[in-house]
Amino acid sequence: MSGVVQAADETWKTDDHFLHPWQDVTAMDRDEWTHLEASGGIYVRDSKGNQLIDGPGGMWCVNVGHGREEIVEAVAGQMRKLSYFSPWSMASTASSELAQRLTAMTPGDLNTVFFTTGGSTAVDSALRFVFFYNNCLGRPEKKHIISRVNAYHGSTYLTASCSGKMREKAQMDMIEDTIHFLPCPKPKDRAADMSVEAFCDEKVADLENKILELGADKVAAFIAEPVLASGGVIIPPEGYYKRCHEICKKHDVLFIADEVVTAFGRLGYYFASEDVFGVTPDLLTTAKGLTSGYLPLGALFISDRLIEEIKSVSNEPRSFFSGFTYSGHPVSVAAAQANLDIFENDKLLEHVREISPYFANALKSLSDLPVVTDVRVQGMMAAVECELDAGTPDENRDTGFTAKVDAICQELGLLVRPTYNACVMSPPLTITKAEIDDLVAKLREGITRAMQIED
Ligand code: PLP
Repeated sequence: MSGVVQAADETWKTDDHFLHPWQDVTAMDRDEWTHLEASGGIYVRDSKGNQLIDGPGGMWCVNVGHGREEIVEAVAGQMRKLSYFSPWSMASTASSELAQRLTAMTPGDLNTVFFTTGGSTAVDSALRFVFFYNNCLGRPEKKHIISRVNAYHGSTYLTASCSGKMREKAQMDMIEDTIHFLPCPKPKDRAADMSVEAFCDEKVADLENKILELGADKVAAFIAEPVLASGGVIIPPEGYYKRCHEICKKHDVLFIADEVVTAFGRLGYYFASEDVFGVTPDLLTTAKGLTSGYLPLGALFISDRLIEEIKSVSNEPRSFFSGFTYSGHPVSVAAAQANLDIFENDKLLEHVREISPYFANALKSLSDLPVVTDVRVQGMMAAVECELDAGTPDENRDTGFTAKVDAICQELGLLVRPTYNACVMSPPLTITKAEIDDLVAKLREGITRAMQIED
């Protein structure tokens, strides 16, 4: 394993003064965490010195792999040159150059970029831009947002409110009156006597019916991940995304593509909406793979059409009063530039398109295990769904099962992301066929051993 620093031989049992994302506050003094200390390629190393394959690729983000010296050098160089600028009052050459490079890559007329600090702030900014746009156009009542059950759009008040992972809403306040959820377009959950085509028709009709029920003059936007990521890698039926886009166009509802996970190679292209699904959205959000997780950065891309419409109805200034101290941070931007150079130099998109069928076949071979009830793969994102008693799933038991798989796999040298009843895999895109074989063998062993443990 190249590029991995030897880890210290020290293990902390708990992080009792550190509230982690999604953590049970009552368990802070007893939760045990695996502490990571080093990384290189597709591997991370824990504080006991164990080497683990980074199955989730950080959080779907370490696309070019760990320990890339090119990014380290670019970041250090930018820090020496210009460590910060105020995006309110200044421009920086570094950020303006990235804006040029990115807007030359985006689909359609998504020719304006608004930099943010990550995915949540990109989606939050997209939603706020939609509200701003409708206010500028003199239709302040067009504010309702349509999302879907099992969607994940972030962790700000507004983006969490648009997220449809309903179990995660307990104890948290949400905006409820203007945000609406369609049923999840998960083909596996269709009725036994329903074809996938009929299921797709039904899910598309759900969107149109919701727009008609609320009134198209009240609905501002539909927001969708092309593949629902944190919801469990849910791949809607063929044609669904494109048909939803057509419904939105028909009713003058903006289409926000949340590509925080699917952009920058995860599905084999820089942006999946157009290249994989044939959709040019009105707004598109990204983060994660933009810097491969080396530094925080997000981006919202806005269609020329929306900007032109605002200009055409305005005789006075129309300021988008939104932004962050770290909008377009020059050091994050340097990481993004070096990251994109790696994509080009390593022909990483071509590699993903070449290797993803192998990844899919390898993971699908796990279907022979009795608890594995579905293996969903698109590009380099996958979920291996486990149900203990298929047909009568007990969600809590199944969630406990995938947590067990993760614990065993860690002993075997693989990090798994247990997401309810699914083992989620989104490894660095640089992964080779031999490394995929190793990953799948470890996952098979982990699931098999977990099946042998009594509840
Ligand atoms: N949108 C999607 C589709 C995501 O998967 C995520 C995070 O996983 C976000 C938004 C939020 O991004 P961040 O965690 O960078 O704020």
